[in-house]
Amino acid sequence: MLRLQNLHKTYGQRAALSDLTLHIPPGEVYGLLGPNGAGKTTVINLICGLLRADSGQIFINSRAASAATKSWIGVMPQENLLYRSLSCEENLAFFAKIYGMPRRVRSRRILECLAAVNLLDRAKTPAEDLSGGMQRRLSLAIAIVHRPKLLILDEPTTGLDIEARHDVWELIRHLTRQEGMTVLLTTHLLDEVERLCQRIGIIKQGQLLTEGTLEDLRQAIPAQEIVTLETPTPEAAIARAQVHGFTPRRYGSDLAFWVPDRLELKDLLDRFDGIALDSIARHPVRLEHIYLEATTKAGL
Ligand code: ATP
Repeated sequence: MLRLQNLHKTYGQRAALSDLTLHIPPGEVYGLLGPNGAGKTTVINLICGLLRADSGQIFINSRAASAATKSWIGVMPQENLLYRSLSCEENLAFFAKIYGMPRRVRSRRILECLAAVNLLDRAKTPAEDLSGGMQRRLSLAIAIVHRPKLLILDEPTTGLDIEARHDVWELIRHLTRQEGMTVLLTTHLLDEVERLCQRIGIIKQGQLLTEGTLEDLRQAIPAQEIVTLETPTPEAAIARAQVHGFTPRRYGSDLAFWVPDRLELKDLLDRFDGIALDSIARHPVRLEHIYLEATTKAGL
């Protein structure tokens, strides 16, 4: 559905994207991750035709990206682009008209979209009177009003409280299943990606560092679990852990170890026998660990 091939983009002397190639098959939800400045917004702007690549190609539904393919794309931008004084219904009508949707079809589609994002009872409410979560849901409704084949979600739940975030996640799941849309999602919320995405790409400085399903990416960390310790003698703990084949890592200020085998708690504690411990905690390998491994020097 979406193919980016050898994309290069520079701003002046600065390379924002270098030889970026990725492919998202139809119906897939793909999470594009990367630190600030990695090039995610540049990718979105290129796909939407707001920027021109220096070289490389973009194909949408097997057609080279052009003015004609724009109507296949729906975007939920990072910042809500809503007409504040217009009602939900009027906002949707405005965008539906831009896409040239005939009046008769338009009214039905607007109601469908409001229903899809649970805003039917707010149809007449001005956008400025909606909560932050409702405004995000209205932005999502606008992004899908013209039934795009490719939906781009740029940080869809940033700034929302946890309940509103769950609502948006549920809607995205529902929409992608029901309408079979292909989704490109960018976010800094790694649990959002774990919940929604079938495949994940991690970029940094405009280059794709790694890509695959969560299971594929887990291969980068050959551990059954990750153990974090608080200890007044970290050097002693690291030396001991290495004797047992545990790989040490620093995640922020946390001292952590990749533990290659699943151990009983008693056996795990035995491995640190004689080391002063203030606390010990066990964690599954999460996308957060994979992301840090790919993008930073987490090693000691
Ligand atoms: P964030 O997570 O902070 O939104 P991003 O991954 O979306 O970051 P981009 O906004 O695509 O990153 O930026 C990629 C690089 O290009 C950065 O180094 C940024 O400073 C640079 N850049 C982006 N837009 C411009 C511009 N208009 N002029 C000059 N440099 C730019």
